[in-house]
Amino acid sequence: MAKPKLAIYWAASCGGCDIAILDIEGKILEVADFFDLVFWPCAMDFKYADVEAMPDKSITLTLFNGAIRSDENFHLAKLLRQKSVVLCAFGSCASDGCIPGLANFTNLQSILDYAYLKSPSTDNPEKVIPQPKTKVPEGDITIPTLWNTVRPLTQVVDVDYVIPGCPPQSNQIAAVIDAVIDILKNGKPLPPKGTVLGATETTCCDECKRQRNIKKIKKFIRPFEIIPDPDLCLMEQGIVCTGPATRGGCGAKCVSAGVPCRGCYGSPAGVRDAGAKMVSALASVIDSTDPEEIDRIIATIPDPLGTFYRFTLADSLLRRAQV
Ligand code: SF4
Ligand code: SF4
Repeated sequence: MAKPKLAIYWAASCGGCDIAILDIEGKILEVADFFDLVFWPCAMDFKYADVEAMPDKSITLTLFNGAIRSDENFHLAKLLRQKSVVLCAFGSCASDGCIPGLANFTNLQSILDYAYLKSPSTDNPEKVIPQPKTKVPEGDITIPTLWNTVRPLTQVVDVDYVIPGCPPQSNQIAAVIDAVIDILKNGKPLPPKGTVLGATETTCCDECKRQRNIKKIKKFIRPFEIIPDPDLCLMEQGIVCTGPATRGGCGAKCVSAGVPCRGCYGSPAGVRDAGAKMVSALASVIDSTDPEEIDRIIATIPDPLGTFYRFTLADSLLRRAQV
C-alpha cells in the first residue's frame, strides 16, 4: 500500500522549527519509514514545480512553519493548502506571526531603509536596495516581493490544526507524530478541526514549579539586574514573566532555567489577545492605588510592546489595517 505523504515547508522563519523536527532524534527514522517525504526544502532539493505537478489533496499532511511576508510565501501557502488533506500551522510564526511579525510595528520601507542604508553594520556606498526585478546583462533577476504586513498562515489560508511554540518542543512534536501515525495506521478519527496540538489548555504558570505568594510590585526590573531566587515566582521578584498569558505545553522550560517566559506558545485557550491578557495580569500586581505612583511603576516595565506581543503581534487585536 502507498505510504501517506508528508510535506514540511518553511516560509518566513529562522529554521528553528526544522531543527526542532530533527531534534526528535531516533523518531525521525520512524517518520522516514512511515511517510513518503515529498517536500522538505530545508533538508532536500525539492522544486516548487514538483509540488505544482502533484494532484490536489495528494499530500496527507503538511507541517507549515514560518509567517507569510512575501508573494512567494503566499503562493506556497495556497499551493500546499490545495495539495494537502491536512494543513498544520507548525510553530509560532505560522500560528501567531512570532518574531517576523514584530515588523508590523513599523512598515516595509522603514525596515529596508534601516537594513540597507542606516544600520551601523551596513556598508552600501551605492545605496542599493533590492528590487523585486533587476536587469543584469544576462537578463532579469526576480526575487520575492516583500509584503508591508506580516501575517500568520492562519490569516491567509484555511488551517486544520496548530502546533504552537518557538520552536515547538521536541517531546511535543514526537507525541504529535505518534498520534498522527496511530490515527493513520488504525483508522482512528482526526481531532476536531482547529485543535491546538502538542500543548495544554492551561497556562505556562500552571506548569511552573516556582513558589507563588501574593504578588506586590513596586518596580519592574530586567532579569540581569538581580540574581533571582531560584524557587520563587519571577514576577514576585519584579521580573516581567508572561507565564500567566501564555499557553502551557513547553513544561515551563525558560522559567525552570531562571529566564522569564516570553510567550512563545501563544495565547492560552479562551484568550484572544495574549498582550492584553498580560496587561491585565500586571494591572493586578502593581502595589499602589496612587495614580502618579502607578504611572511611575508602569514606566519601569522594560519594552512593554516587545515583551507583551513578542510572539503574537501579527495575530493580535493591535495588528494594523491589512495593507
Ligand atoms: S509568572 Fe512566570 S515565574 Fe511566576 S508562576 Fe508564572 S511562569 Fe512561573
Ligand atoms: S517558557 Fe515561555 S518562552 Fe519559554 S519555551 Fe515555554 S512558552 Fe516559550
